[in-house]
Amino acid sequence: MAYHPFDSERVLVTGGAGFLGSHLCDRLLEKGHYVICLDNYFTGQKRNIFHLLENPHFEVIRHDLVNPVFLEVDQIYNLACPASPVHYQYNPVKTTKTSVMGAIHVLGLAKRVKAKVLQASTSEVYGDPAVHPQDESYWGNVNSIGIRACYDEGKRCAETLFFDYHRQNNVNIRVVRIFNTYGPRMHPNDGRVVSNFIMQALQDKPITIFGEGAQTRSFCFVDDMIDGLIKMMNGPDDFVGPVNLGNPVESKIVDLAQHIIRLTRSRSELEFLAEPADDPKRRQPDISLAQEKLGWEPEIDLERGLESTIQYFRDLLAGA
Ligand code: NAD
Ligand code: UDP
Repeated sequence: MAYHPFDSERVLVTGGAGFLGSHLCDRLLEKGHYVICLDNYFTGQKRNIFHLLENPHFEVIRHDLVNPVFLEVDQIYNLACPASPVHYQYNPVKTTKTSVMGAIHVLGLAKRVKAKVLQASTSEVYGDPAVHPQDESYWGNVNSIGIRACYDEGKRCAETLFFDYHRQNNVNIRVVRIFNTYGPRMHPNDGRVVSNFIMQALQDKPITIFGEGAQTRSFCFVDDMIDGLIKMMNGPDDFVGPVNLGNPVESKIVDLAQHIIRLTRSRSELEFLAEPADDPKRRQPDISLAQEKLGWEPEIDLERGLESTIQYFRDLLAGA
């Protein structure tokens, strides 16, 4: 019998050609959904979704989410937004527009077609946190006029819009605050710490440490993050978030560099460079709420996650 898209739930993934979005598309298709991937390819890559293009349950729309979108869907994951500081600072006005106008457009769509909509928010809403670890009750410490503000304040405003559409228009929302996530399909030049260090180590180039490397992050492997996103989308309607998703194991940046040098058996040396403005000094999620409400916690430790990410970049450099 011929397949008809309305036989299964239709899911829109904005930013679907990006790092997290493409893994999410894979997983949703495996679960039997009909998936529409929307992207403007600013930081996303066709190679991330190339393997899906022949799938009859998958379609791609090239579209910039600063413009409205009209579709018929049941669920929306709103991931469209550059996530690496290098990319979101490239055109900061556009970054704010993408978060704010993008939120308005997915919320308007969700309101019109009565779809459930999940916002990919971020640990950056906590800014350079004065509370450690960060739980969802913390309101954050963001410099509203700094170079990270286009991303941080854009995402904060998007959270505001999600909760106002929920209260004012009864839109069925979910808000997740994603902490640093890494894995295969990160853009090799996107400037984030895990991809930078692995690419540098594999080429025996200096490992660029910003500041003294004493700042911390907590790294979650992509497969765990995708589990969390899907659990939150399909969780009870009375739990809309915000909820932290991330791996609570905290690492110093300099220790991450040593770890990657060891795993890649690299001859790279450490190079200490100037610290970027407003770089958060410590970041670690308190995931008690996700554990309690979603029964979710990460399962893949840093060593295993890094090994699989290193293999991805090895293949990429070898032209595989
Ligand atoms: P990414 O840059 O790989 O993916 C973002 C995708 O959005 C790209 O495919 C890009 O082309 C697309 N996009 C950007 N602007 C757009 C626009 N105006 N219209 C349509 N598409 C647009 O980044 P990622 O790591 O996959 O992040 C996905 C989402 O998760 C982002 O919203 C990001 O803020 C959030 N997030 C990610 C992390 C992380 O560590 N990866 C942490 C916190 C939050
Ligand atoms: N970082 C670094 N060298 C790099 C890239 C990043 O030392 O080549 C540091 C950066 O200053 C920050 C941390 O690693 O303290 C994480 O940076 P990333 O850009 O990955 O994410 P974010 O700052 O948004 O958490």
